[in-house]
Amino acid sequence: MSECIFCKIVKGEIPAAILYEDDKVVAFKDIQPTAPNHVLVIPKKHIVSMAHATEEDLQEILPQIFKVIQKLSQELGIKEEGFRIVNNCGKQGGQTVDHLHFHLLGGRQMLWPPG
Ligand code: IMP
Repeated sequence: MSECIFCKIVKGEIPAAILYEDDKVVAFKDIQPTAPNHVLVIPKKHIVSMAHATEEDLQEILPQIFKVIQKLSQELGIKEEGFRIVNNCGKQGGQTVDHLHFHLLGGRQMLWPPG
């Protein structure tokens, strides 16, 4: 866990463009954006993935993550035009960083289905 790059961002050990922070959640710009707005919203607690979230995480942290996503969509000016929320879970889900995170993507037309 000490090697987790997102835990290091939470602890301020590596830099990130932080857009929001509270006692449970941090949101920062993705280092390799795939849309004009690409933000990652993560729990401060090290939760590996959605598959690893406990009942308490689902009740205490996940709702706050979605509140932050909606707040950021407003602040980034993408709430009206629309946006996409993505969670990649596990190997087949395409997850590359093993710390739960939600991508907030906006500012361009999204395509469906994803690859
Ligand atoms: P995943 O494929 O859903 O696990 O997404 C991981 C995301 O983390 C990718 O979009 C990466 O560009 C992003 N990422 C990896 N390292 C950093 C970092 O140090 N700062 C910000 N974003 C990062």
